[in-house]
Amino acid sequence: MPFALIVDEKTRLTKPVFICDHCCKEIKDAFDGNYEWDDPQQGNLIVNVVFLHKGCVRPYDKTHHQPRFNMGIHNLMVYLLNNLDLGPKRLKEAYKNTQKLTELTS
Ligand SMILES: [Zn+2]
Repeated sequence: MPFALIVDEKTRLTKPVFICDHCCKEIKDAFDGNYEWDDPQQGNLIVNVVFLHKGCVRPYDKTHHQPRFNMGIHNLMVYLLNNLDLGPKRLKEAYKNTQKLTELTS
């Protein structure tokens, strides 16, 4: 469950988060997280992704199949924004329209 929503018990507001596949804790800093993936299996071009704190990469990879590729979550976000056509101008507009953002960050 690498991408999830956390619900605040008090406010019932939700926030999207990445959960580390090794320690099961929230990855709070994009520069402290990696994502890993393998080559696609034959005939399937969609691959599963694993999210890990940088400090959890080695212990995870020791006990699991070591994926062939990895990259920082900060890079993932740039690729994702680009693939969703959210360049700086549209991102700024979306940011303005996102309500209660400060309540969701902690
Ligand atoms: Zn972790």
